This record gives sequence, structure tokens and C-alpha cells, in this order.
Amino acid sequence: MRLQKSQMVVPHAFGVVRPGPAPWLRSARSAYPFYFSRKDPFSISGNGSSRLNRVLRASLHSGFVTNSGEGAQVPVDQSEIIFVGTGTSEGIPRVSCLTNPDKKCPVCSKAIEPGNKNRRLNTSLLVRFARPSGECNILIDAGKFFYHSALKWFPTYGIRTIDAVIITHSHADAIGGLDDLRDWTNNVQPSIPIYTAERDFEVMKKTHYYLVDTSAIIPGAAVSALQFNIIKEEPFIVDDLQFTPLPVWHGRGYRSLGFRFGNICYISDVSEIPEDTYPLLENCEILIMDALRPDRSSSTHFGLPRALEEVRKIRPKRTLFTGMMHLMDHDKVNEGLVKLKEAEGLDVQLSYDGLRLRVTL
Ligand SMILES: [Zn+2]
Ligand SMILES: [Zn+2]
Repeated sequence: MRLQKSQMVVPHAFGVVRPGPAPWLRSARSAYPFYFSRKDPFSISGNGSSRLNRVLRASLHSGFVTNSGEGAQVPVDQSEIIFVGTGTSEGIPRVSCLTNPDKKCPVCSKAIEPGNKNRRLNTSLLVRFARPSGECNILIDAGKFFYHSALKWFPTYGIRTIDAVIITHSHADAIGGLDDLRDWTNNVQPSIPIYTAERDFEVMKKTHYYLVDTSAIIPGAAVSALQFNIIKEEPFIVDDLQFTPLPVWHGRGYRSLGFRFGNICYISDVSEIPEDTYPLLENCEILIMDALRPDRSSSTHFGLPRALEEVRKIRPKRTLFTGMMHLMDHDKVNEGLVKLKEAEGLDVQLSYDGLRLRVTL
């Protein structure tokens, strides 16, 4: 397939760079000041840092701060991560659990209640930070349920632009929402850069052929305008923020990428961590890691026992699990996990959709 010039795929070594935002976009951003309300109990912060330092520093620092009250505003240089989704591919509640006449699923029946933390859509994380031209929102994965997640959390947290999407792997719960990005590129911003490994781009050429090769669509059809950038298993920079790929296995012979930015490590889909990846996880302050089910691992995902083994090995300051299936009851599992703090000094909890952490990058 022939690629249009704006969508040419360029292999990059270090420092993938995208064109700067259009002038009209800068003014659009300034209409949405980068303020957060201090409602979330899991707030993390530290000393402010310049954008230059963000690029140059190999390791960054974050620490906990006390909230100053409901709805208080924090300075423009404050960064945060938002858990856009924390569940499995089919989502929680499972429809099949709700229609089962023989057995009531305890977790799925709770998950239908509004605001229940067992309600989980496809795993995805938003990294949000300030830059001179306004806020920057970098999304990791846009899966099948991306629209529903965005519908819930973007207005809630005042998220307007999507400045880049970084792809962990090409399963449907990681890339199924690429088509939904059309709303942004038609109505908010001219285009969205996508950062993906070559192998996953090859998949997108088939699953989203009309987004890769826009000559395939009828002129004037308003599909997502995406710029594909190929990443390798080495650090790259998106909007001044360095991301280091964390290569892992997600089933035998199938590669997925986690990402480290600052001292935050995000690994959403993993069944095995190669030895070469462990050094990249050193001095991790916040580890966000796959934990599918409470009892055992599957062929493609860590279960909770294995995930805890890895936490003991990696020794992050704090761990939040993601990618939980319906067997993981949020409150019950967390009650068990909180005991590990006293017993072993492990700060481990399940994350949940909409969880927002204030961080320093
Ligand atoms: Zn269920
Ligand atoms: Zn997957």
C-alpha cells in the first residue's frame, strides 16, 4: 500500500520527533488551563522541574504530598497519570455473567452499580503534564472501549487534546479504539501521532488499513488522521518526555512493550519479564503491572501470585495492579494486599478506572 507523505513511517533510533502543534491549536489549548482539583486520595508530588530536565534526567523523583482540600487547584507544572482503564478485553461486568440464570457473579453484579470500582474497561493510561504551549496528554493504548472510557473520564478531568498515543501491542483491547480518535482529529486537533513497534504497525496495516493508507478512503471521509511513528526497543521522546520501552513477553513468542517514563513503570500485558528488562526497572517508584486473576497466571498474563513475586524482585516504592478480570473483587483483594505492607513492607493495591495520581516527571 502506498503511504501518503504525512503518514510516512520513519524508523527512529533515539528521539522520535513529531511536528509542533499548529498555532490555532496552541490557542485552543490555552482555553483549557492545566489545573487539577485535589480530590484524589492517592496524590503524589515532588519538587517541580523544568522541561529540559525532564528530558535529560535518567531518573526522576516523586513523593507523596498531603491534599490541601477538595477542589483546590494545583500549579501548572504539576503532572499526573490517570487510569483510563484497568480491566480485561471483554470488560467488567461481563455480559455473560449478568445473563447467567444459574449463578450470580459477585463481582460483575457489583460492577453494574454506578461508581463501583469493579467496573473496568480496557487497560489504558493517560500521562498528563504541562509544557509552555499548554497541557500535554499522552495516552498509552486506545482499545475497543476507548470511547466509553474517554466519555467517562475526559470530561470529568477536563482532558481536551490527545497529543500522542503510544501502543503496547496490537491486541484489540490496545488498538481497537484507533478509529474513535476521529472525534479528536476532526474536532479538536489536526492529527495524532501514534508510536508503535514495527510488528504492531504491520498488524494495523490490516486491521486499520484505511487509517494507515488514506488513499483507500473516499475523499472527504472523516477518519482519524494519524501519523505513525515506528519505535524500537530503545528510549524515545514524545513532547519532551522520555519513554523507555520495557520489552516483555505476553504469551510465548509474543512481544508486548511496557513503558518507563520518569520513575514510573507501566507493564499492562505480561506473562514473562526477560532478564534484560529488569535493569530498566531499577529504582522504580510506581510500578503499574498486569495481574489478571487472584489464583494463578494464564498463558498470556501474570496472575496475582506471580505479580507479587515480581514486585518482591523489582522492589518499587509502590505498586498498582491493572488488567484485572472479574474474579478480582476490588475491595476484597485490596484488603488482603494491604496486609502485605505490615508483613513485608510492600505497598501494593489494585488500581481502578478513573484513578488519578499526581506525579512529578
Ligand atoms: Zn463476572
Ligand atoms: Zn494483549
